[in-house]
Amino acid sequence: MSWRIETKCIQEGYRPKNGEARVLPVYQSTTFLYESAQAMGDLFDLKAAGAFYTRLGNPTTNAVEAKVAALEGGVGAMMTSAGQAASLISVINIAHAGDHIISGSAIYGGTFNLFNKTLRELGIDVTFLEPDATDEELEAAFRPNTRLVFGESLSNPALRVLDIEKWAKHAHAHNVPLIVDNTFPTPIHCRPFEFGADIVVHSTSKYLDGHATALGGIVVDSGNFDWEAAGKFPELTTPDETYHGVIYTKQFGKAAYITKARTHIMRDIGSTPSPTNAFLLSQGIDTLHLRMQRHVENARAVADFLLHDDRITFVQFPELPDSKDYALVQKYMPNGTCGVISFGVKGGREAAIKFMDGLKLAAIATHVADLRTCVLHPASTTHRQLSDEQLRECGVTPDLIRFSVGIENAQDIIDDIRQALDAL
Ligand SMILES: *Cc1c(COP(=O)(O)O)cnc(C)c1O
Repeated sequence: MSWRIETKCIQEGYRPKNGEARVLPVYQSTTFLYESAQAMGDLFDLKAAGAFYTRLGNPTTNAVEAKVAALEGGVGAMMTSAGQAASLISVINIAHAGDHIISGSAIYGGTFNLFNKTLRELGIDVTFLEPDATDEELEAAFRPNTRLVFGESLSNPALRVLDIEKWAKHAHAHNVPLIVDNTFPTPIHCRPFEFGADIVVHSTSKYLDGHATALGGIVVDSGNFDWEAAGKFPELTTPDETYHGVIYTKQFGKAAYITKARTHIMRDIGSTPSPTNAFLLSQGIDTLHLRMQRHVENARAVADFLLHDDRITFVQFPELPDSKDYALVQKYMPNGTCGVISFGVKGGREAAIKFMDGLKLAAIATHVADLRTCVLHPASTTHRQLSDEQLRECGVTPDLIRFSVGIENAQDIIDDIRQALDAL
């Protein structure tokens, strides 16, 4: 029987047996005991499954990975200590010095820096393309050494929607996978695998956790990309001498990519989540479907208020019929997007800052996408390191206010905005 997504949020991942804890226990242990050297050896040789050291696997973390894999419709997942690590691992699992990747330019500022600075320093070249790049522009970006294409389903903070099907088509025509950061809509509102994406990454620090308690990330493998047929990924299709010559595609089939991410990259760099953080994430996901619905309802109410107030210069919410990406929203996120809205206040940068200081309910926080309404000025905070040119590439203007609508009473949120505008 295949459950609907609301049921999966609650029931997937952890299935207790007779007499076991009803709720996922926290295995706050770095190591696990085995009764024979042979049993332990089989784990090291990847011949048997089981936890032996928390850097590579932990029962609490593994249960949450299974839950997110089920929500996205993937064959496997790997949690990381933060979203940044998930993005990095998703790339370096299959791209190396001398290679090239293509990325949408409307992406999270941290991901932009990771690609534009750190990946370049590691010898991986990057081409950034506008989310609405034409077929010709996409085609022209590919090189013989291009290893993957990356984009954000609903970008933070620009709220651009990626045409997943189109980007996947181009990636697949060049025998490389499409990786999609699905943090903002979450699998409740967008499932990139259904449109051809091959790998999904998340910052679970946002809606998935939802309560702003645990930093985390996750990489999810659809199992759909044919690494052997692509003929470009020897790290997956030829022996890995650091693991007794294992050939990931032969031994792990559809789970080749995600298995290698763990046994090779996580083994070597160790950006492992705490089991307690995995537990907190699991608790968050239990109510994800309810929270996302309320975030969207509240965001719609706030957007409607802002649209009718002449002290506001613009409102960006992709669900609005005049939004650039309205048609893409209908296709990829028909039930709703998320709770984040961007807008400008008359008076530019200074007015924006004064408006934010006047808010009483909405908190100024370097965070978005949790149950408390919060507000941020990207140009002076998260995107501070970027030049005006790079800001524009990320779809951010100096007066843009990013408003993350929480799940409080919508009228209280609106009243707060009104009083802060009145005080300007
Ligand atoms: C926050 C965020 C990240 C980075 O995640 P961290 O958990 O903060 O490391 C990556 N992508 C998107 C879309 C984000 O919003």
